[in-house]
Amino acid sequence: MGVIKEFAEALKGLKSLIVGLGITGKEFAKPGVTVHYPRKVVADKDLVTYRGHIELVGSKNDPAMPPCITCLMCQSVCPSGCIKIIKHPPPKKDPAADKNAPPEAYASGLEPKTKAAPPAKEKPVKTPKGFILDYNYCSLCGLCVQSCPVDSLRFSTEFYIADPSKKAFVYDLMARLKAQAGTATAKEKE
Ligand code: SF4
Ligand code: SF4
Repeated sequence: MGVIKEFAEALKGLKSLIVGLGITGKEFAKPGVTVHYPRKVVADKDLVTYRGHIELVGSKNDPAMPPCITCLMCQSVCPSGCIKIIKHPPPKKDPAADKNAPPEAYASGLEPKTKAAPPAKEKPVKTPKGFILDYNYCSLCGLCVQSCPVDSLRFSTEFYIADPSKKAFVYDLMARLKAQAGTATAKEKE
């Protein structure tokens, strides 16, 4: 009785071994899903769904400038407080444009013969002066990308990043966009 039981146990073990080897052999024959970095890198087409740190998107007429209107929505919605946008200063107020200020000719006490044309107003610059991302605290939640009213943000496919310093993960996204636009132009010229 004892010999039969031991034989049955051995058969069970052998079956398990054959099944295991079958699975190993099947997986061994499948093409690899990893690459031998740094000798090989992942192709761009395989990074379509990858969520890297956020980056600015170039506008249609100027790839080095984002369509961003500095509404600050992304900065306000970010739960980690890792976006800092620097706006351009507002245009200096022209005293001639002040409705209450007397025109120069009136100021001298003489009535002007012809009405002077109103001075052209300087338009405020809407594009950001600076756009800083502190990637150290980003949780990649995507709220900034979703909330942008002009689709000025997206996830990058940047993942070859490693550095012992936290400073290396504070990105100037305006400078990054300019560099990307420069690279794209250089490639077009080749
Ligand atoms: S992905 Fe989320 S955490 Fe990261 S910058 Fe955008 S809003 Fe902030
Ligand atoms: S990136 Fe979009 S959400 Fe952020 S400030 Fe610019 S326009 Fe607003």
